[in-house]
Amino acid sequence: MNKRARVLLLNAAIGPLDYRIDAEHDVQPGSIVLAPLGPRQLAGVVWEAERMPSDAEVGDNRLRPLAGVYDLPPLGAPLRRLIEWTADYYLAPPAAVLRMALASASALDGGRTITEYRATGHVPDRLTPQRAQALERVEGRQGLVRELATIADVSDGVIRGLVKAGAIEPVEVRVDDPFPIPDPDHARPALSEAQAEAAARLTNAVEAHKFAPIVLDGVTGSGKTEVYFEAVAEALRCGRQTLVLLPEIALTEPFLKRFAERFGCAPVAWHSDLRQSQRRRAWRAIASGEALVTVGARSALFLPYRDLGLIIVDEAHETSFKQEDGVMYHARDVAVMRGHFEGVPVVLASATQAIETRQQVALGRYEEVRLPARFGGAALPDIAAIDLTQDRPDRGRWLAPSLVTALTETLERGEQSLLFLNRRGYAPLTLCRHCGHRFQCPNCTAWMVEHRLTARLACHHCGHVMPPPRACPECKEEDALVACGPGVERIADEVALLFPDARTAIVTSDTLWSPAKAAEFVNRMDGGEIDIVVGTQLVTKGYHFPNLTLVGVVDADLGLSGGDLRAAERSFQQIAQVAGRAGRGAKPGRVLVQTHEPAAPVIEALVSGDAESFYAAETEARRMAGAPPFGRFAAIIVSSESGEEAAATAKAIGRAAPRVEGMQVYGPAPAPLAMLRGRHRQRLLVHASRALDVQDVIREWLGPLEWRRSVRVTVDVDPYSFL
Ligand code: ADP
Ligand code: ZN
Repeated sequence: MNKRARVLLLNAAIGPLDYRIDAEHDVQPGSIVLAPLGPRQLAGVVWEAERMPSDAEVGDNRLRPLAGVYDLPPLGAPLRRLIEWTADYYLAPPAAVLRMALASASALDGGRTITEYRATGHVPDRLTPQRAQALERVEGRQGLVRELATIADVSDGVIRGLVKAGAIEPVEVRVDDPFPIPDPDHARPALSEAQAEAAARLTNAVEAHKFAPIVLDGVTGSGKTEVYFEAVAEALRCGRQTLVLLPEIALTEPFLKRFAERFGCAPVAWHSDLRQSQRRRAWRAIASGEALVTVGARSALFLPYRDLGLIIVDEAHETSFKQEDGVMYHARDVAVMRGHFEGVPVVLASATQAIETRQQVALGRYEEVRLPARFGGAALPDIAAIDLTQDRPDRGRWLAPSLVTALTETLERGEQSLLFLNRRGYAPLTLCRHCGHRFQCPNCTAWMVEHRLTARLACHHCGHVMPPPRACPECKEEDALVACGPGVERIADEVALLFPDARTAIVTSDTLWSPAKAAEFVNRMDGGEIDIVVGTQLVTKGYHFPNLTLVGVVDADLGLSGGDLRAAERSFQQIAQVAGRAGRGAKPGRVLVQTHEPAAPVIEALVSGDAESFYAAETEARRMAGAPPFGRFAAIIVSSESGEEAAATAKAIGRAAPRVEGMQVYGPAPAPLAMLRGRHRQRLLVHASRALDVQDVIREWLGPLEWRRSVRVTVDVDPYSFL
């Protein structure tokens, strides 16, 4: 009789601990339990002891008993294997990965209702500025006191005061209401022959209910979504769950709408913008198996689906699937591993697959399903370069005369245009005309970016903001600050000067910060209320606007300047994706790409439409350099508030580097982003051959080393950022 349980607690700082199981408790591996830790109690999950070694072995007589077992389905073995694999591969504490699976602490407890609050419309007699701000911002919203306080940017006390004053009232919310069940046959589209063939491959894979990584490669507008919806329909018929991962939460709202048109009701959404009550309801429905289709950002990947039948990663090439803090995992790669452990197909959909994915296809590990043409005979847009050295914008302007002409023609036809520039704000750099002083973030190695819409200078790395000063802090000269270079807001200003009657919209994470905002934008586009969109990479993805016929890329050279190993590939993907927004309906699309280097391979590939030779050249260059997918990198980042301490620790780590065949260590050197959030940063880069278990080497290398608590050392396996 097993009377001991090894428990992985929800605290990344402590390893697994053993507890006594009393007779009243029925536990098995995966059971979600409550365990005492010091004076507190903490949730955790029971694990197979042999798979989760503990360095705190305690004799039977000294074991503390478990405090309770939650009335929830145990985490399945495939999810437990996934958690182990992720912790091992990304060198993260298993508890940090487990936290993503139990992502809604409140979901664990019972209780069918929760108290939320909302404005009553009554204005209290005593209206402080704080209260006024709170009432203005929470209008139409609902949530816990803390959630409303966050929305309103006031303390909890202000909200509670408003509750007392009758301006905000409690509402009981039922949190376990069932979700509607999508109907696979609600509105089936008539698929083209190519689509039907692709759909059949996917539905067969769902039926087979075995691991199968499938790359769904189709040009923009070919109907990839319609095709993978057939696979979702098949999973629904089999009564199994589907997970659809999207790269941005801004895309979820349009996706929900489109899903509802096809299946008669929305799927369950999972993203960071959910209220606690919504999160709890979704988590419980996912764990019980009642949530049949979940769409979410990367964090949805670790949820405890009870009976998974299919995983889809849409826009699978997107680098935002890589998490850059906490557990630094890549959701596309972990999705494939989840499919492997669960024994279900994983579909990677994209028009511009990553070189890593293409290589798996070349090796025969992933199956490829192609959709070569746009649906309904829509032509792919015609892409042309504008040589900025010849066709120059006027002084202080950014749009070349030929692009302006194209915008004029498009407006006259009553069609929509999109100007793409991957830079938020008004100008990336502000300096003093008089003394040359540049505004830098006090916490980061980064310029402060001017945002005119909100009248602030902001750091895009740490979020530090300040009002733009009237006088230069250096030479005290007044009104001498000049904006250098364009951001989307400045392009929008130029558009307003050129076309005073055109209706424009700026689309960035500043303006589309919630799914609701994104939905509003889509509705205005669909309703023809916008003529010209100026946007960042946020508009390059997934959207389908039939009346959008012109795309202008303001600065195609921007993405190439960063110089990391994926810069050319990323530029190609980004421009190909934004180009893919043009001409998706009956009218043909046009794309104009402004560049100083029309002969650059990326631009030539885009203009000629010859993606294959571009990819071939890039792939060959990676092979020669031993870069991914042919070799591997891992970055070791050492940071501290003291520059000397960071440098000394990094040096010590560098000195301790083992000599291993097939591995090179570069650095330490100050990171390009030498200071971030007030911490000095040093980097080491490990370059290893595929054959080497580089994680094992790093574990043995860093394991015995010690450093001060004020120093943070993080390992980024398969890094995407080299800053
Ligand atoms: P992709 O994801 O490949 O860019 P979508 O799935 O978004 O393409 O399809 C592009 C547009 O064509 C969408 O509006 C979609 O509804 C429409 N479409 C695609 N296939 C069909 C079909 N078989 N029947 C009707 N409409 C379709
Ligand atoms: Zn900063």
